[in-house]
Amino acid sequence: MTQSASSVAEPKVATRGDTFEPLEPTPEFLSDLAEQSARLESATPEEIISWAAERYAPRLTMATAFGPEGCVILTMLARVAPETYVFNLDTGYQFQQTLDLRDRIAEKYGVEVDMLKPDLSVPEYEAFHKGPLYKTNPAQCCMDRKIKLLHRGTHEKHAWMSGIRRDQSADRAQAAIVGWDKKFKLVKISPLANWKKQDVWKRILDENIPYNPLHDQGYPSVGCWPCTQAVAEGETDDRAGRWSGTAKTECGLHTIQESDGSGI
Ligand code: SF4
Repeated sequence: MTQSASSVAEPKVATRGDTFEPLEPTPEFLSDLAEQSARLESATPEEIISWAAERYAPRLTMATAFGPEGCVILTMLARVAPETYVFNLDTGYQFQQTLDLRDRIAEKYGVEVDMLKPDLSVPEYEAFHKGPLYKTNPAQCCMDRKIKLLHRGTHEKHAWMSGIRRDQSADRAQAAIVGWDKKFKLVKISPLANWKKQDVWKRILDENIPYNPLHDQGYPSVGCWPCTQAVAEGETDDRAGRWSGTAKTECGLHTIQESDGSGI
C-alpha cells in the first residue's frame, strides 16, 4: 500500500444519528472511487477493510454466505471493524452445516451475523407457488429469497463488502476493489478481489478459522441445498456445482453490469 488509510481524503458521509442521504454517483464521485480502487490494489485486505470502515461506518455492511472468503473477512472484521453490521441471506434452503457455521464463528470471534429471512417461510412459499420455484423459475426464487433480503440488509447503507475474488469465475474476473454497484446503488468493496483461492485456504488453515465442512466433501461453493452439488475431483471453477445443468451461475448479487466491472 502506497498511502496510509489515515491520509485518505474523507468524503462527506453520514454519521450515527444523521438523516440518511444516499450517495450520488456523480462523475467526480466515480472518479474518486476509481482512484481509491487503483490505490488499494496494493493494500492488504485488512487495510482495505480499515479504509472502508474509516470512510463509510456506520453505513458500511457486509453480506456473507459463510463461504471460505466470508469466514476470512469475518475474522478480519472482528479485528479491525467489529461494529460492522453483517448479515446472511437466510433463504430457508441453506444447508444445516452453513447454519451451524454461523454459531461456530460467533463463538470463536464474537461476530454475530444477522440472519435475514424472507417474508414467507419455505412451506408458505412453496404452497403459494404450488411447488418449489427453484425447479421451475430459479431466477424468481433468487429474487424473492435473496435479492429482496439484500435490499433489506443494505437499507440506509452507503457501502457493502463481499468476499468475491477475481479468480472465482469469468463473471467475477473484472471485480474492482472499490466500485459503484449500480444495481444496489452502493459502494461495493471486495477486499479479497486480488487473492487467490490458495491465499484464502492458507489463512484458514494457518489461523484455524472455522469453515463449512461441505468443502471437504466436494463442494467448492456452498449455496442453497437444492441448487448446489458436489463436483468431480479436478474441477477448477469455484462456481461449479451451483445451479448445475443450467446456464445460471450467479444469483444476481454479483452480476456484472458494466464492462469496466463497476457494476459487480
Ligand atoms: S439458490 Fe436456489 S433455492 Fe436458493 S434462492 Fe436461488 S433458486 Fe432459490
